[in-house]
Amino acid sequence: VRAQVDRALQACVVDVADYPQEGVMFKDITPLLADHDAFTAVVTALASAGRDEAGDVIIDKVVGMEARGFILAAPVALALGAGFVPVRKAGKLPRETHAVSYALEYGEATLEIHRDAVAPGERVLLVDDVLATGGTIAATRELVESCGGSVHAVAVLMELSFLPGRETNPGLPVTALGTV
Ligand code: AMP
Repeated sequence: VRAQVDRALQACVVDVADYPQEGVMFKDITPLLADHDAFTAVVTALASAGRDEAGDVIIDKVVGMEARGFILAAPVALALGAGFVPVRKAGKLPRETHAVSYALEYGEATLEIHRDAVAPGERVLLVDDVLATGGTIAATRELVESCGGSVHAVAVLMELSFLPGRETNPGLPVTALGTV
């Protein structure tokens, strides 16, 4: 699986310079999603963050953040036999939510979770495509904890090692399939 994951990340993720703004190297994962073998390999590898060494599933829910997190977290949840929970931008979830606002490079963002999406005591795996500053993961962790759940682990396709994503989330085990 390791070799397939490396191939998927190297051959199927396209770097787009200066998108969505100057100075950002955007990681476009859509070619990876369009390649069944690559998609399968990374979903399998991400799902292993929700298992212990014996291979037993140790989480109850997989949480994905809008929007690319949804695409990865949903098949990871199915692979683990766990439920999937969406964390969405403000105003998109129809029932009662918990909300957290956090600073972006420019301005502020608000994320929400349905209050009953994670039950008290449940263990959660967070899945996203890219770990950059870690602000999205930190905000999502607050949302899960507002529900009474706990974040057991984080799994991402790629980590940007020149940004403090891990430092922003002390004590949280992060599995990154690739490092940039
Ligand atoms: P952050 O909160 O700074 O860790 O940013 C993480 C979120 O922004 C993730 O949901 C990513 O999808 C997105 N993101 C940040 N940097 C990039 C990048 N270079 N390429 C693609 N997506 C990115």
